[in-house]
Amino acid sequence: MEEKLKGHLHPLTQVMREIVDSFVAMGFEVADGSEVESEHYNFDALNVPKDHPARDMQDTFWVKDVPQTVLRTHTSAVQVHYMETHQPPFKIIVPGKVYRYEATDATHETQFHQIEGLVVSENVSLAHLKDILDEFFKRLYGATATVRMRPSYFPFVEPGVEIDVSCVKCSGAGCNVCKQTGWIEVMGAGVVHPNVLQAGGIDPRKYRGIAFGVGVDRLVMQKYGIDDVRLLYAGDLRLVNQF
Ligand SMILES: [Zn+2]
Repeated sequence: MEEKLKGHLHPLTQVMREIVDSFVAMGFEVADGSEVESEHYNFDALNVPKDHPARDMQDTFWVKDVPQTVLRTHTSAVQVHYMETHQPPFKIIVPGKVYRYEATDATHETQFHQIEGLVVSENVSLAHLKDILDEFFKRLYGATATVRMRPSYFPFVEPGVEIDVSCVKCSGAGCNVCKQTGWIEVMGAGVVHPNVLQAGGIDPRKYRGIAFGVGVDRLVMQKYGIDDVRLLYAGDLRLVNQF
């Protein structure tokens, strides 16, 4: 007798779990944190200056009637909490929801998903970061996947890099998905700024950190060829039942 179909996981949940499983297989622990966060952990402790545009009302949901409290704008907010309560060396990933106060369109939602990675030990470097992400994308997209780094700026890392992965569709030859470049921008990363280590109670003269943050929604859209992020949250069974 045929088993009755009882439902299945949302494509976002499927990809989230796939990513988490890959990092766990690479020796990472999974950490968790609150979606309602203090300004301190979301911004100050991450070396985001008071006058940084990310603090602008346009980007952040502030909690009404509770001073200096926000809906976290990135999973990086968990970093300092974790450092305050754990001794290096450690390797963690933090999957979860984040929030931005902005107009929604095909590529922007007010709520989306990130996975943060943080490695702290006495001798990590950008070379380790590239190794980790290379292995991760090979697990996710297959043996031919490769990553490259481009210099970038984020207040919580120094130096900061933008990570591109070779295009899943054309393997680097050039197509409409990668806009003929052969590469797709997938995450921001870098060497953790000494101020951030210090905020977490870790001696930056003894330890170094590397960190990365990936937008899960964008990976899901790339993987399945979905061109509007809002479809992931509309609860429309015509979309969800395709996976
Ligand atoms: Zn391509």
